[in-house]
Amino acid sequence: MNIPFNKPYMVGSELGYIAAAISDGHVSGDGGYTKKCHSLLAEELSAPRVLLTTSCTHALEMAALLLDIQPGDEVIVPSFTFVSTVNAFVLRGARPVFCDIRPDTLNMDEARLETLITGRTRAIVPVHYAGVGCEMDSILAIAESKGIAVVEDNAHGLFGRYRGKPLGTFGCLATQSFHETKNFHCGEGGALIINDERFIERAEIIREKGTDRSRFFRGLVDKYTWVDIGSSYLPSDILAAFLYAQLEVRERIQGMRRKIWERYSTCLEDWACALGIRLPVVPTHCDQPYHMFYLLMPSLAVRQALMAHLKARGILAVFHYLPLHISEMGRRSGSAAGDCPVTEDISDRLLRLPFYTGMSEQEQEYVIRCILDFKG
Ligand SMILES: *Cc1c(COP(=O)(O)O)cnc(C)c1O
Repeated sequence: MNIPFNKPYMVGSELGYIAAAISDGHVSGDGGYTKKCHSLLAEELSAPRVLLTTSCTHALEMAALLLDIQPGDEVIVPSFTFVSTVNAFVLRGARPVFCDIRPDTLNMDEARLETLITGRTRAIVPVHYAGVGCEMDSILAIAESKGIAVVEDNAHGLFGRYRGKPLGTFGCLATQSFHETKNFHCGEGGALIINDERFIERAEIIREKGTDRSRFFRGLVDKYTWVDIGSSYLPSDILAAFLYAQLEVRERIQGMRRKIWERYSTCLEDWACALGIRLPVVPTHCDQPYHMFYLLMPSLAVRQALMAHLKARGILAVFHYLPLHISEMGRRSGSAAGDCPVTEDISDRLLRLPFYTGMSEQEQEYVIRCILDFKG
């Protein structure tokens, strides 16, 4: 049997909705399906405004523009994340300051934040790793006391919660990804969640090439013109139609993912314990959206051995992230090995198991059987 690491799930109604978008005649951005996605997400999250974007990367770039990040500003990001979390701010000239992670949830270690803040710190960007919430109470308290903005990179965490409140609603801005590797997707896509209403008007302008086109369409101005910097960050309504099909059946998708996550957890518990392998930690005050399942192996050598063991049986398990602070770009911004010891250690030992919404029971049982055959 061949088991891929990820297989984009189709709910069945995508093509029908795309056909409807096409026959409606509005296939550029902000058509009917984009508006449906906006209201569904704003309502589910109780957020004042949600704007679809062409990717989470672009939503992060919008956040950096909205915060007026300038050359020399500092932005605190975890080292253990995808490159876009930091690149969006570096594009504006910011210097990244890398924060190590907690060994349990692998989230930004809030206890280290205070020592990283300087007079130039403009933003803190927590990433809810695997959709398990960062310690937002402490992060927000520290940020507020210093007047620093918080932008959540919630690429993994849509519909997850921290102390009952949806992830993506804590920072003044938050970003989502609808890339095909995420829980809900349209191939490539994203969203900016605006929690501080002061950003709404300018966000619409930045997303529309720096024009006041949105105000024009609402009849607030009689012509639209160039009023600010901006770019083209809005996706075609064809993509929004695809995405709406997925978001509409969010409970079905989350239910399927939950079953897969729980089956891994139950079936691998004893095996992991016997071999000194750690399964994901989800604190009781966090509701996770079942984005991924990973193993923390005892060493790099054992991680590589299990990966090879699975590969020989047709199963693709992968690792991530290479610590950003010791990447070529990270070093150029002044970071060095040893700055984030937990990240460096975890990055060597983490292994992600195949996990996708349509994974059949038979496929998962095969993966589990092969894992249980591995004796270390
Ligand atoms: C996937 C991902 C992104 C980027 O998402 P795109 O939609 O592909 O731009 C950013 N941050 C994190 C943590 C991610 O996992």
